[in-house]
Parts: sequence; C-alpha cells; structure tokens
Amino acid sequence: MGRLHRTKIGDAELIALQDSWARVPAANFFPDATPAAWEPYREFLDAEGRITLNLGAWLVRSGGRLVLVDTGLGGRPTQMPLAEPTSLPAVLEAAGAKPADVNVVVFTHLHFDHTGWNTVDEGGRARPLFPNARHVVQRREWEYWTAADDRRAASRHDAVLAPLAQAGLLDLVDGEHAVTREVVTLPTPGHTPGHVSFVIASGGERAYLIGDAAHQPVQVSESDWCPGADVDKPLARTSRAALFDRIEREGALLASGHFPFPGLGRVATEGGRRVFRAP
Ligand SMILES: [Zn+2]
Repeated sequence: MGRLHRTKIGDAELIALQDSWARVPAANFFPDATPAAWEPYREFLDAEGRITLNLGAWLVRSGGRLVLVDTGLGGRPTQMPLAEPTSLPAVLEAAGAKPADVNVVVFTHLHFDHTGWNTVDEGGRARPLFPNARHVVQRREWEYWTAADDRRAASRHDAVLAPLAQAGLLDLVDGEHAVTREVVTLPTPGHTPGHVSFVIASGGERAYLIGDAAHQPVQVSESDWCPGADVDKPLARTSRAALFDRIEREGALLASGHFPFPGLGRVATEGGRRVFRAP
C-alpha cells in the first residue's frame, strides 16, 4: 500500500498521499537532457539511469473543510511500470478520511495521473468516488481537454471527467480562486494550458503544492529541463522558474506529488546553484 505523511502549515494540515510510484528511464522522461547534462545529478538516478516518479495526491484539512488536491492514477489498468498497485482510497482511509468525507476536490490539471480516482467502475458504469465533493477545475483546462476527440481520449474524458459533469459535481473557475480561507489557487501554465498550483498560507507559514510545474528535484537546479509531457515548453520554463523564485524568496515549503515521496522540501541557493533540500 502507498504511504502517507503528515505536516502542519500553521493551523492547516497537509497530508501527502501516495497512490503508487514508478522507476522511469531518465532519458525517456527528459528527452533533451543528455547523459553529460545528468552527470552532476547522479544522486537522483539509480544504477540503471532511472528516476523515481512518485504518483501522489494531497489531503488538506483547512478551516473545517477536507480538500483533496488531485486524485492520482486510479484503479484502472495502466501502461505505467508501477512498483506497486495503486491504493489511494486505502491511504486516504489510513489518513482518517472516507471518500464521502471529502468536501472539495481541486485539480492542478487534468492529466490522467491526477484524475484517476475521480470515479470507480461499478456494474459497467463510472461512479464518482467523492459523491459529496464539489470538483473544482480551471475552465481553461476543462475546455482544452474537451475541445477535440484526441484530447478527450488522452484525458479519459468518458471515464473520469464526464461523470463529474453528469452528476452535477463540477465547478469551473477562472484563475486565482480561494478554495478555503487558507488555500488559494496560483496559475502556473505551461505543463498544460490551465495548469495551477495551490498555496497554503496559515499562521505565518506557507507551502506551495506545485502540481506538475516540475516533476523531479533536478528541475529545481535545471528549471529549463522539460518532460515530454509539457504542452508549452517555453511557458512551462517561465512558470517553473518564477515559482521556484517565489518559493525560495518566501522560505516556503515546496510540495510535489511527483518528487520522491513525500516530496516536501525547501529551495535554497548553494554555491551559485539553486537546489532542492528535503528535510
Ligand atoms: Zn503528473
């Protein structure tokens, strides 16, 4: 089963939930990064030159509300070389929450590894797993993934997106949006057109849930490195660099669902290079 990890951000609680994880060849993941470019970052690779890609989501307890940020890869068959079966619902339960307890589901973006547990298949139908939650999606992101047949297929629209709309659980919002008094949306486009991050600010502390603005700690140092999945690479680079600048300047906590679990750390400049420092 996946792991969980609890942190306090002022009065809010941030819980890292692991759905699963995988080892992926670095050369496939960052097609433009040569072996020589990787040389200073051997610490992030295993003996076979693979990165560790966590597949995570976040649970935030804030102001009496239970907020789930992204829903992981889901329970359906996948091509991903998973190290263990996906288990987000069980991890959520271990964190003390049932799916019916979740008040709000927010999405950083609509890639399949962030929307998988939106629904579960029952009797040949996809049933929303979080029946009492508003599901908050950026309008721009929704429109992008529903605008063409190939995008609808890539986002598994019929299985994980359409059922939310059909059940009346979907709220489309534009740009900065207050999820709770302590959790606010921050647009960080590029990985996808409507990609957003979330800022938790409470009691003088701050954390940034960066979504797929970055996938690996190496990108804190090499913010120009783009995975093949970045839709608009120049814009992704700009958003990524600005986000790291802001996290470093504010001394905030960085929270990534794809960095090795639990994906929490600080951003600092050491020896002229920006680095990710896990506690
Ligand atoms: Zn992702």
